[in-house]
Amino acid sequence: MKVKVGINGYGTIGKRVAYAITKQDDMTLIGVTKTKTDFEAYRAKELGIPVYAASEEFLPRFEKVGFEVAGTLEDLLQKVDVIVDATPGGMGAKNKPIYEKYGVKAVFQGGEKADVAEVSFVAQANYEKALGKSYVRVVSCNTTGLTRTLSAIQEYIDYVYAVMIRRAADPNDIKRGPINAIKPTVEVPSHHGPDVQTVIPINIETTAFVVPTTIMHVHSIMVELKKPITREDVIDIFENTTRVLLFEKEKGFDSTAQLIEFARDLHREWNNLYEIAVWKESINVKGNRLFYIQAVHQESDVVPENIDAIRAMFELADKWESIEKTNKSLGILK
Ligand code: NAD
Repeated sequence: MKVKVGINGYGTIGKRVAYAITKQDDMTLIGVTKTKTDFEAYRAKELGIPVYAASEEFLPRFEKVGFEVAGTLEDLLQKVDVIVDATPGGMGAKNKPIYEKYGVKAVFQGGEKADVAEVSFVAQANYEKALGKSYVRVVSCNTTGLTRTLSAIQEYIDYVYAVMIRRAADPNDIKRGPINAIKPTVEVPSHHGPDVQTVIPINIETTAFVVPTTIMHVHSIMVELKKPITREDVIDIFENTTRVLLFEKEKGFDSTAQLIEFARDLHREWNNLYEIAVWKESINVKGNRLFYIQAVHQESDVVPENIDAIRAMFELADKWESIEKTNKSLGILK
């Protein structure tokens, strides 16, 4: 029996998760919701995905242009076992009562507060905590990136200080900026550190800056070590950590631009780079401090986590079985 999945909010994250669901043999995509009849709605239809109006209030928009919908969100909820809520941040919490009304499990995204769900989730760090749960929050792109590498070296961590250099907007977003400034997040520490602590119990402080780029985030990470580790040990650990890849400046990976080009060269859909990219040369140990720099493809790193979250919630597989299955289905390199 395949788990029946619906997607509420077919935007940057929603359409990528929908695609990923279609690549699984233990899940089936029942439909997605749209608020309007933009090109994404027509594309979903072309792909044969049933499109539902996000609520009754949006129906006139579809009727006006003769776009036939399969029903509304409430109709979709009657056909699915789980809904992936990929609506804009904060809306998931507002939607939760309707999911509860229909007795449907829900996966929320990182724009929601942690208390929307029973567990905040990164597969390789705490898959087991989501087993059998009804409400799981896949944490944000930045938190997923930090958690993937930090959980791999968790036993060596005394304290983490990290600087988040954040992309201003996604490539399709013309409303956000800045386009010619660097904008510090003046709340110090930023919310990213506490968000990591919703997944793994480590000491961490973060600061954040928004910069004029659309393609990736970059993190500069410094770890005060609890016990000694060498640069070679860290390289070895990251080389053996799933969904983390080492890239070398020496091979032409000078910036986030070449990382995205690498994903394009792999013919990844939407140039998704699901893996966290660590610059190998940036890994350095000085005394009791470890330094490294990593990049996060914000539009896609959380996609495999949504798939694993569903498997955990329905107890379809154990941790490594699920991670390996997801990795294989999406062409994740390791
Ligand atoms: P988005 O704006 O690209 O997509 C949201 C979609 O929801 C849009 O298609 C919008 O039309 C639709 N929508 C709006 N109101 C709706 C409603 N009432 N009902 C149903 N759908 C509605 O946003 P996104 O970037 O995909 O973000 C979705 C969630 O994922 C947020 O919680 C966000 O914080 C999180 N997230 C985003 C990124 C990223 O970089 N884009 C990364 C990780 C996590």
